[in-house]
Amino acid sequence: MTNIDVILPLAIADTYTYRIPDGMSCPEVGMRVLVPLARKTITGLVYRIHTEVDAGNSPLTPSNLTLRDIIEVLDERPVVLPSQLSLWRWMADYYLCTLGEVMTAALPARMLDNDYTARTEVYVSLHPQYTDVEMLQPVLDSLRRAPKQKRLLEYFLELSDAFDGAPHPVEQRQLIEFSGESTAVLRTLIEKQILCAAHEVVSRIPSYDADVEPAHPLTEQQQRAVDEIHTGMAEGKVCLLHGVTSSGKTEVYMHLIREMLAQGKQVLYLVPEIALTTQLTDRLKRVFGNRLGVYHSRFSDMERVEIYRDMLQSPQPKVLLSARSGVFLPFTNLGLVIVDEEHDTSYKQQDPAPRYHARSVALMMARDAGAQVLMGTATPAIETYYNAMAGKYRLVEMTERYAGLSMPEITMVDLKRQYHRKEMYEHFADPLVDRIREQLAHGKQIIIFQNRRGYAPYISCRKCGYVPKCCNCDVSLTYHKRTNSLVCHYCGYSISAPAACPSCSGEWRDYGMGTEKIEDEVARLFPDARVARMDLDTTRNKNSHQRLINAFARHEVDILIGTQMVTKGLHFNDVSLVAVLNADSMMQSPDFRSYERAFQMLEQVAGRAGRTGSRGEVVVQTFQPDNPLYVYLQNHDYQGFYAAQLKERRAFRFPPFYRLIVLTLKHRDYSRLDTASRELYERLHAAFGVRCSAVIVPPIARVQNMHLRTIRLRIEVNASFAQAKKIVMQSIAYIRTLPNCKGTIIQPDVDPMG
Ligand code: ADP
Ligand code: ZN
Ligand code: ZN
Repeated sequence: MTNIDVILPLAIADTYTYRIPDGMSCPEVGMRVLVPLARKTITGLVYRIHTEVDAGNSPLTPSNLTLRDIIEVLDERPVVLPSQLSLWRWMADYYLCTLGEVMTAALPARMLDNDYTARTEVYVSLHPQYTDVEMLQPVLDSLRRAPKQKRLLEYFLELSDAFDGAPHPVEQRQLIEFSGESTAVLRTLIEKQILCAAHEVVSRIPSYDADVEPAHPLTEQQQRAVDEIHTGMAEGKVCLLHGVTSSGKTEVYMHLIREMLAQGKQVLYLVPEIALTTQLTDRLKRVFGNRLGVYHSRFSDMERVEIYRDMLQSPQPKVLLSARSGVFLPFTNLGLVIVDEEHDTSYKQQDPAPRYHARSVALMMARDAGAQVLMGTATPAIETYYNAMAGKYRLVEMTERYAGLSMPEITMVDLKRQYHRKEMYEHFADPLVDRIREQLAHGKQIIIFQNRRGYAPYISCRKCGYVPKCCNCDVSLTYHKRTNSLVCHYCGYSISAPAACPSCSGEWRDYGMGTEKIEDEVARLFPDARVARMDLDTTRNKNSHQRLINAFARHEVDILIGTQMVTKGLHFNDVSLVAVLNADSMMQSPDFRSYERAFQMLEQVAGRAGRTGSRGEVVVQTFQPDNPLYVYLQNHDYQGFYAAQLKERRAFRFPPFYRLIVLTLKHRDYSRLDTASRELYERLHAAFGVRCSAVIVPPIARVQNMHLRTIRLRIEVNASFAQAKKIVMQSIAYIRTLPNCKGTIIQPDVDPMG
């Protein structure tokens, strides 16, 4: 008897075993099947076909406790390749989750709902009774008294190229739009059997019809980088391209992509989500035309299904540009994976499981496929640079900006002194105001970076000190002036802002600054400047992010105020000055990466300045101008920064010297959570000793009505990580059996970001 292990989109077990009923032909691994689960029917994926009797996690028929039958096989050919399944297996094992959780992340939702529908368009063609265009002359004559019909028909003949040969079908929408006639007129022509209309399946993937252009010739420095990358790859090494901002890393990628395509290979080009702008896609489209595929979370699910299927059905040499979920695409002939801005923390999926890091997954997937890996950045992650220094990766450097531009000049402004001397206008130090004014006078553009959205992070009553808090989370509500609301940035809870303090009717006072407040101050300081704001609130609509970037690129805006969205990979010709209003705030978060992230963010945002023409300028306002981080930044001294960070990482037992697993426990009930965390701690401490932290109360101890606790494990890099994970999973399973811990959610996060 043949049994089938099926992956179901559930977080409970890896696979569930079903039987093939008599008369059904056996599906192949990687095909979707419809199976019963309790009283429901659910879509799963065939993982393994075997003859074992063990029914492990399998729903049994209630009557005679035998395996239940597969209801239907949904595919004629596998939709998930063996190479993908082995990557899923690795991810589930490495990130401590189920195959079902990986599958849910990996496949576009429609593939599991199974309600994908092809997109159709109505196409109009000539009625088959007219085998020759000549035959239409009498028809046109007869329509002399029906000018609308005549006009529509003439437009049809024009659009269908009828005079150059056999007329081809014309999209109805296009015909109506061009002719300016109504569909009623078209219907009449169809009723008269002159034209006919039919639905046809069309692709949702936009096609690129313009001519492709050759890539730019490489500069000497870029050519040297390409040569070194070739050498590194020939040695079988992963390459790290450490190139300063605007050194032309993208040009190097394009060159390597072209080589891969010429060898008939596929390329996966990963970028942080926010960098997937038309600035980059247009640049690649111009060179690669229809060999560029873009896979994007802003695409509809239907579009994603089509890109996925297209890759399965026609495994042609292509370059796929994508954010982190690109690692789930069905590559059959992968030659190269590029991880651009490899340091970017958005490569890590935080929630839900699988809590994977796309950089790690990319390395694994390339290894399985025998493909090369190139990581690129101006500010490598400490772990990545460590691997390069240790000789595990091949380090390739580009230290000069393209076209001989200098690195931007970074000036620190001491806020303590400025406030003391009262040389401030609201949140702007006088020297900064002068610099902005000067640049505006020269017709230049300015970016102001403030990594907090809203108007003020919190408000408080002047009389009684009351601070409005979220009712679901232990955080204060952020005041948003444009919508006059108080918003929780953790759970989205929002109320309209009360005019006065609800407990004493006192007046409000606001604290701190967000992008909205800066926007108001800029409007007062520079009333003639055209100002725009780019943050989560102004980019919620589908195309608003793009629109803002385009407007700024066309210089319809003089000053752009933004959160970290403005730091990533953008290229504007006229930006001469970048201002950072409060750099210190980035270092205040308690996690071990906060300095690293602050350095990367500042270096990236500085990199937006002076990308063409004269030298760019960066003004950084700080209360601690002597902080070593700023000295490294001013000297663009990545190596110095790296050495200092590495020392700290070693001293405080963090990556790359230790591997981390953070366990987050959640429960609505405070005392159950308390018990569960203590029980888990005791088990882990018994096994891991000092490698196990105490139970940690996080800075925000309640989110969405769930109380939170964390426990952190540090495993030496030379110890067995697999063994450690086994103990972790056993301990979690044990806690789940304890009645007084019931309902506790325990989420393991392997290689956490913080
Ligand atoms: P990076 O990715 O390192 O920040 P880019 O690849 O975006 O740098 O290059 C910065 C700018 O310089 C872009 O406008 C790019 O078109 C231009 N550029 C870089 N290299 C070349 C080249 N070899 N020929 C022409 N333009 C180049
Ligand atoms: Zn009050
Ligand atoms: Zn909240």
